Amino acid sequence: MPPAKNTSNDPAAATQDLLSEAGHATQDTEFFNPMPPGYVPGRHKYVVVFGTVISGIGKGIFSSSLAKLLKDKGLKVAPIKMEGYLNVDSGTLNPYRHGEVFVLDDGLETDMDLGTYERLLDQDLGRGNYVTSGQIFQKVLQKERAGGYLGRDVQMIPHVTGEVKYMVRELAVKRDADVVFIEVGGTVGDYENAFYIEALRQLAFEEGEGSVCYVALTYVIEPPALGEQKTKAAQLGLKKLLEAGVQPHVVAARAKNPVEQGAKEKIAMFSNVPTERVFSMHDRASIYNIPEALREEGMDRGVLTMLGLHDRLNARNEDTARAAWGSFVAKINAKRKYKIRIGLTGKYAALRDAYASIDKAVEHCAAHLNTDVQFDWIDTTKIASADVPKALAGFHGVIVPGGFGHRGTESKIACIQHCRETGLPYLGICLGFQMAVVDFARHVVGLTDAVSTEFDPDAKNPVIDILPEQKKIEGLGGNMRLGGKDVLIKPDTLAAALYADQLRGQKPDQQTVRQRFRHRYEVDPKAIATLEKAGLVFSGRHPSQPIMQVLELPQPGTPGSEGRPTHPFFIGGQFHPELLGRPLKPEPLFMGLIAAGIRRAYPDAAREDISARWLIERGLQPSG
Ligand code: GLN
Repeated sequence: MPPAKNTSNDPAAATQDLLSEAGHATQDTEFFNPMPPGYVPGRHKYVVVFGTVISGIGKGIFSSSLAKLLKDKGLKVAPIKMEGYLNVDSGTLNPYRHGEVFVLDDGLETDMDLGTYERLLDQDLGRGNYVTSGQIFQKVLQKERAGGYLGRDVQMIPHVTGEVKYMVRELAVKRDADVVFIEVGGTVGDYENAFYIEALRQLAFEEGEGSVCYVALTYVIEPPALGEQKTKAAQLGLKKLLEAGVQPHVVAARAKNPVEQGAKEKIAMFSNVPTERVFSMHDRASIYNIPEALREEGMDRGVLTMLGLHDRLNARNEDTARAAWGSFVAKINAKRKYKIRIGLTGKYAALRDAYASIDKAVEHCAAHLNTDVQFDWIDTTKIASADVPKALAGFHGVIVPGGFGHRGTESKIACIQHCRETGLPYLGICLGFQMAVVDFARHVVGLTDAVSTEFDPDAKNPVIDILPEQKKIEGLGGNMRLGGKDVLIKPDTLAAALYADQLRGQKPDQQTVRQRFRHRYEVDPKAIATLEKAGLVFSGRHPSQPIMQVLELPQPGTPGSEGRPTHPFFIGGQFHPELLGRPLKPEPLFMGLIAAGIRRAYPDAAREDISARWLIERGLQPSG
């Protein structure tokens, strides 16, 4: 029995772990198949999704939709995204180039695709669900330095490929997964993901018939000048996969319009995949329609048959899950009663992917509250503070999202000031929380030079400051406070009302919600009393440290708010609530913002309406 895995930070013990995994490297065999402890061959099945032709056409959406269907049937699923790039994680990636950084509960910084999995599966993911080439090479090199390969020449095959297989099998064991969904980043033919494809080819060989289902996502072009669907690029892409020794079992053909029968047949002929297993993944009004579309075409049953999983299913679970999902999808597809405009400030105003989770969190809430939300991007690097009121005219709510660096922050502060002074609903996220503190300190408390030390390291009034001593207390290695943490919610506040569903049943005065963080600066503890005295309410804080995590202004009429600043909806979180927005569990801060936005846009709308009801049910006022 191999030794238990070391979880401490002791380097010697970590090396020992690496070496114990290397147990199968010997002089007498060409195979290198280290197996994680407890691995039972045949117990775990694999679905592998490759992309051909171009990237960015929805491998993650296909994979998570299929995974969702299987999960709904009672199977345990575990996704893993394999990235080709050499970065060890996504923390250093520029969101402008790569989309947002998605932070997992265990603090790993990943990319937005992990968000798609978490949202569709309603499942928290962690380190084991994300791997980059950088991580794999790092591990191989560490093991080599520790003498783990017993004098062998260390090679891409079998050693690097062996690590890839080890990782997916380890995930299977750890999550006790019936099916591991493996998504290979990039496209077949890329230099950097070739070793993943090779490893996953070997996986099927080793696991045996009926253990691995390969899916090839491809792209069917429809040149406007021709007005018909052309499959040549798809054929060539699929051929590349065949050249790598991988025979796909399913082809998902991405296209603008439904893929025609003729195009499906051509794809079938060139890829040895029966026509009924060529799925038309054309543009749909919402990605949330894909699971049902896959189901209608029998893809779920096809895959279950291929992997011999029918005897592990739970029909009752499927009925309940389908009913809940169906009612959400009906809301997503319905024509909405209201329409509101939300302003989003941001440096990356041109790029929606940089705010993918905010976009999604708002999309879920909008569906639940029967409204269309038009996003308007406010590029604060281009707007002078004095022009902010004009720029915000006609908005029903404003979000200042997370961000780093000084550019555009003065106008962000002006946006927050305008919201605070005019009753415009406001949600501040991370930097948007910090800038709300700066606005309040400057314009209500009167500390005109209040600022964050992120922008002025020598600031005289650093109401937002870097707090190394807190970091030591929390035992953080790096310089960012990352991942899921508990937030203690103050009773009888806006935050307590919004999070009522999550707080119910918890001990009074110890009620917490869990949120995800990614920040380096915090409210300076020395400034807390002054800010509170002037009427800013910190309604969420660290359970034992003076780290402020939610701020708000009370609604008018809240007991104790007489003579103090009030607001119909003004709240900010030091965390990233958007990362926890799930279709069937819309994030409460966004629900509150959208509901308040609807009330602002339609002050005469009936109190029986969904937005008003949502607020009233939580003890809040529907209009301000
Ligand atoms: N730049 C701020 C900090 O480091 C805010 C971070 C964020 O918005 N994610 O604390």
